[in-house]
Amino acid sequence: MICPICNALIPLKVSCPDCGSVAEDEGRWSDWSGPYSPYEAAGFVGQREAEVADDAICQHAVRCIRCGAPFTVEIAAWHV
Ligand SMILES: [Zn+2]
Ligand SMILES: [Zn+2]
Repeated sequence: MICPICNALIPLKVSCPDCGSVAEDEGRWSDWSGPYSPYEAAGFVGQREAEVADDAICQHAVRCIRCGAPFTVEIAAWHV
């Protein structure tokens, strides 16, 4: 199972839930969930990557390019 976003196979196409603008990928969510994550201050405390049970889902941190709102998206991994 591979994540098409991590492997740059397809572009990430998500819209900001706040303003509807394009949001850009900021990498795997797990890379952002450290103790000094900028998302800690942005209201993401309490979101747990532990919910992602296996590699069928790759959770990505994304940020709206217009309003800067951070959120997460779950990318369905591909069978190869
Ligand atoms: Zn990924
Ligand atoms: Zn936005």
